[in-house]
Amino acid sequence: VLPILLHQFVYKRQTPTTLPTFLLIGPSGAGKTTLLTLTERNTVAQTHTSTAPLTIQALLPEGFIPSSSHYRSPGDPAYERSRRFLLHDTPGHGKLRHFAASQLMKPTNVRGIIFVVDASSVAEEAGLNEAAEYLHDVLLALQKRYTGAKTSRGPKEIPVLIAANKLALFTALPPHLVKIALEKAISEVRKSKAKGLKDSGVGMRGDDDGLEEEREWLGEGGEGSFEFGQMEEVGTSVTVKGGNVLGGDGSDVKSWWEWVAEQL
Ligand code: GDP
Repeated sequence: VLPILLHQFVYKRQTPTTLPTFLLIGPSGAGKTTLLTLTERNTVAQTHTSTAPLTIQALLPEGFIPSSSHYRSPGDPAYERSRRFLLHDTPGHGKLRHFAASQLMKPTNVRGIIFVVDASSVAEEAGLNEAAEYLHDVLLALQKRYTGAKTSRGPKEIPVLIAANKLALFTALPPHLVKIALEKAISEVRKSKAKGLKDSGVGMRGDDDGLEEEREWLGEGGEGSFEFGQMEEVGTSVTVKGGNVLGGDGSDVKSWWEWVAEQL
C-alpha cells in the first residue's frame, strides 16, 4: 500500500491541474444545479471548462480572499491561481453508494463538501428525514475514511458546509434551527440504524462483527443525542450557513463563498 500512496502523493504534487474540489451534494430540489449554474455564470468567461459531466471549473468571486493568499495581492499569478477550484455536482440519492465509495473514501483533492438543503423543506418531517438520512450517510462515510486510515497522521480533513438554501422563503427555518433540526433527526437515524443492525443479528457484541457495529455508529459512542461537534474527533468540521441561490432581492450566497475561501 505504501508505495502506491507514495506514488499518488508524488503524482499529485507534480500535477498542477488537480484543482481543489468541492462536492455539491444534498437532496434533490435543494438548489444544487441552480448554484452550479450561478457559479458558472459568475465565473469570468472562458475560465471554466467541463472536465467531466457535472463538474465545472470555477473562480472564487471577487471580494473573497483564499486563505492561502492572505499575504498576496490581487494580480499576483499565485493569488489568481488560488482562486480556482472545481465544483462537482453529485446527482440524486441513488448514486450515493457509488459516490461515497469513489469520492469520499479516496477523494482526489476534495477540499470540502457543500451539502445543500432546502431550509423550508427541512421545516417539515418528510423533508427533514430525507436530508438527515442523506447527511448521516455522508458523515458516516467521512468517519469511516478517517477511522480506517492506515497512516498515523490520519487523512486530510474534509470539512462540511451545510448550505441552508431558500432562506428568503417565509416557511424557511433560520440556519441555527436548521442545525438543531438536523442534529435531532440524525440522532433518530442513528438510533434506528443501530436497531436495524441488532434486529438482523449483525454486529452483536461478543462476536467478530462487534467492531463493525462500532464503526457503523456515527459520532460518539454514547446513546445521547448527536451533535455536529462530535465530528471534530474524526477530522470533520460541520458548519451551517444560510443563503439564497435565487432570491427576491437577488441571490445571496456570500457566507458560502466565505466558507469556500477559508478552505482554499
Ligand atoms: P437540485 O435538485 O438540488 O439540483 O435543485 P435545483 O437547483 O434543480 O432547484 C430546485 C428548485 O428550487 C428549482 O425550481 C429552483 O429554481 C429552486 N430554487 C433554487 N434555489 C432557490 C432559492 O434560493 N430560493 C427559492 N425560492 N427557490 C430556489
